[in-house]
Amino acid sequence: MTTADAARTLSLAGVSKQYGPSLAVSDVSLVVEPGRFLTLLGPSGSGKTTLLMMIAGFVAPSQGEIRLGAMPIGHLPPERRNFGMVFQGYALFPHMTVAENVAFPLKVRRRPKAEMAASVRQALDSVQLSALAGRMPRQLSGGQQQRAALARALVFKPHLLLLDEPLSALDKNLRADMQAELKHLHERIGLTFIYVTHDQQEALSMSDEIAILRDGRLVQQAAPQALYERPATRFVAGFLGRSNFLQGVVVSAGPDGFAYRCGDHGLRHDGDAAASGAAVLMTLRPEKIRVLGADESAINRLDGVIAGWTYLGDAYQFTVDVAGIGPLTVSTPTWRRATPETGSPIAIGWDGDAAVPVLPD
Ligand code: ADP
Ligand code: MG
Repeated sequence: MTTADAARTLSLAGVSKQYGPSLAVSDVSLVVEPGRFLTLLGPSGSGKTTLLMMIAGFVAPSQGEIRLGAMPIGHLPPERRNFGMVFQGYALFPHMTVAENVAFPLKVRRRPKAEMAASVRQALDSVQLSALAGRMPRQLSGGQQQRAALARALVFKPHLLLLDEPLSALDKNLRADMQAELKHLHERIGLTFIYVTHDQQEALSMSDEIAILRDGRLVQQAAPQALYERPATRFVAGFLGRSNFLQGVVVSAGPDGFAYRCGDHGLRHDGDAAASGAAVLMTLRPEKIRVLGADESAINRLDGVIAGWTYLGDAYQFTVDVAGIGPLTVSTPTWRRATPETGSPIAIGWDGDAAVPVLPD
């Protein structure tokens, strides 16, 4: 990191927010390097908006420190932080044109007229809205309004951009388009984005990094793939897509793998150490399980019975009952045999590194 980059790094240390007896945000520490796309992801009520409001300066932390580079900013009012914001319901001014809306933050900052016109043009260009500069907000579609709000947040060249569920009001298709647009915009302008959502698919597809919040606490921060492939806890595994959980006991262990018993079944894991005799909880994604043909083998193999199945077009999803373990969800993109039959036997298997150990929470 260069010195200039270090000066634009946002860091939170031990930040909490208490409302009466309850903690909306509890002891959150995180670092956001310049130019990153960080998503705060968690269920409703997990403290995402409160955390973003503290970064923006609208809510004062009860404890902890917020810094930009080496400079503490926790005492600064929102307008002195120079952060752009696109919030839920942070609507355009209805009586101003698009261009006037976008110019507004510059007027407040008393920028010279010539500079103002050039900056507004550039901001509208960056969201492909120049052609609609003279329209009133009510003459715009939902997606166009969102882009105008984005231009207004970018026009004063903020240090970073804060977005709180900006796409939640849009329908599914438009939402997917806007996700892609936002991601491209982020790549083009290289600004730090801190993005709030409760939608795990949105978080996985857009972010450089995801911070998972639960009950006001940050439980894990990592890149999307790392988070999906190596969740630290049962909660993270379950929140970020579907997963099976296997409760077992380690029967023998080496430095880079262990064998464990789950019900009456002997299973094998590669890639982590464990102590012999220890209880383990493993998470196993449905798409990591294979349906085995008569001549196929796998490091981990279980025989079960098809308890139910669903055809999803691009995949089959099976519920497989395994004695001593219970139902497992299996997702397989191909099924070349005759229509599956509920109640018929099925063999399933997975590789040594497909299931990973997680903390029970
Ligand atoms: P999220 O954005 O993840 O849905 P919030 O940050 O809005 O979560 O809320 C976190 C918790 O803090 C919730 O339990 C909420 O009820 C509480 N909370 C948020 N704002 C206030 C407030 N102004 N007064 C009291 N409690 C609040
Ligand atoms: Mg919220």
